[in-house]
Amino acid sequence: MSYKLNISSRKEALIKLLDVIIKHENEIIQALYDDFKKPPFESIATETSYIISELKDTIKHIDKWAKIKKITPSILNFPSTDYIVKEPYGKVLIIAPWNYPFQLAICPMISAVAAGNQVVLKPSELTPKTSAIILMIVEKVFQHQHVKVIEGGVEVTQKLLAQRWDYIFFTGSVPVGKIVAKAAAEHLTPITLELGGKNPCIIDETANLKLAAKRIVWGKFLNAGQTCIAPDYILIQEDMKSHFVDFMKNEITNAYGKNPKESPDFARIVNEKNWHRLMSMIEPEKVIFGGETAVEDCYIAPTLIEENDLDSALMQEEIFGPILPIITYKHEKEITQTISKYEKPLALYVFTDDRKFARKTITNFSFGGGCVNDTVIHFANKRLPFGGVGHSGIGAYHGQLSFDIFSHHKGVVKKANWLDLNLRYAPYTNKIDTLKKLLKWL
Ligand code: NAD
Repeated sequence: MSYKLNISSRKEALIKLLDVIIKHENEIIQALYDDFKKPPFESIATETSYIISELKDTIKHIDKWAKIKKITPSILNFPSTDYIVKEPYGKVLIIAPWNYPFQLAICPMISAVAAGNQVVLKPSELTPKTSAIILMIVEKVFQHQHVKVIEGGVEVTQKLLAQRWDYIFFTGSVPVGKIVAKAAAEHLTPITLELGGKNPCIIDETANLKLAAKRIVWGKFLNAGQTCIAPDYILIQEDMKSHFVDFMKNEITNAYGKNPKESPDFARIVNEKNWHRLMSMIEPEKVIFGGETAVEDCYIAPTLIEENDLDSALMQEEIFGPILPIITYKHEKEITQTISKYEKPLALYVFTDDRKFARKTITNFSFGGGCVNDTVIHFANKRLPFGGVGHSGIGAYHGQLSFDIFSHHKGVVKKANWLDLNLRYAPYTNKIDTLKKLLKWL
């Protein structure tokens, strides 16, 4: 027997969840700080307040989103009433990453619950304090057979993936995304994969460089660069580079002071393993700003790199840290050559005052989502789909779309009995002309 909840019970659970999260907001912020010194401002802006707003929105709209939706019927079926019924998939597995460990675990869970599913949630083992808070909150709000948190590392995730699910929602890296996709294929389980990639940030000769630098510094060094949609590398018109680098240096200092290690607004690398991974990518002779590090604190300063070599370690995979390579181009075609070297990214940013160039860039390249003249902020609009394409992911969510991806959409035709046209029934003799005429008329 599957576990079923009507809309009002789902809403009740979500209201309780909202209440518990608001009550424990300070503890959540503290857990995020303990895990990797996430600055409280960033925790509020990108984790707790985001979730509170998502919850309020879902509670407000759940009746509308869940409603049976009438659809214009096809004249071919006349007379009929057509509609879409949204039904919960059933048992949903949600696997979360560590970089926004509260938001990226709770956000899909809210929608899975709203859509009427049972949920098993696996938070990241790399942020244990946040994982413990998530467990505590879920246990306070939900019955075990409704939502259950299972903590643990790779082995636990593998065991979970070996079970049969009705839907799997995964946020994490591309290699693990492939493992999830393979496991899901075993039972033909539908999936959403929210993955990563190398996100280009293009700056042409018409861009407002000072403002671009300010917005790039914010989007890149937020969460110490450990953001799936952070700009991964800069592609800038050759003549603009030295001005841009000066603006970047100023903006980094404005944001984090002369010694970012002392700044309360700059997070740490999540663990030593990732610190070493990032360190192995830095070639000291290419550092043009920053470069200071401290292993005991998992610290890497906001670092700018002069990069001309797409075969360097830094340009092989998603960086996912506070290191920003700056690559120059002479001619527009070099932009295409560089971006095309990589899989389709999760985000793309273009800084320009040239509308045609902006439009061309947005339409010519395939990417999950992005901005013209800013970074990262497309995430904030719940009415925009959020997700990747190709290697950066499958499917998109946020707002109503999240409710919809956790629901199976059943298309139903309710045929009336007061009329039954004979045309479709065999024998078809002498009916082809009438069929053709009808189809032409339609
Ligand atoms: P990850 O893929 O290493 O881990 C994600 C989850 O998968 C964790 O819960 C972990 O326990 C599990 N896992 C790890 N290895 C596994 C294995 N071999 N088998 C089964 N399960 C395994 O990712 P991460 O390091 O936590 O997060 C960073 C990555 O996530 C980056 O690539 C980033 O771009 C991506 N990301 C994407 C989004 C998005 O919305 N698209 C958001 C945040 C992070």
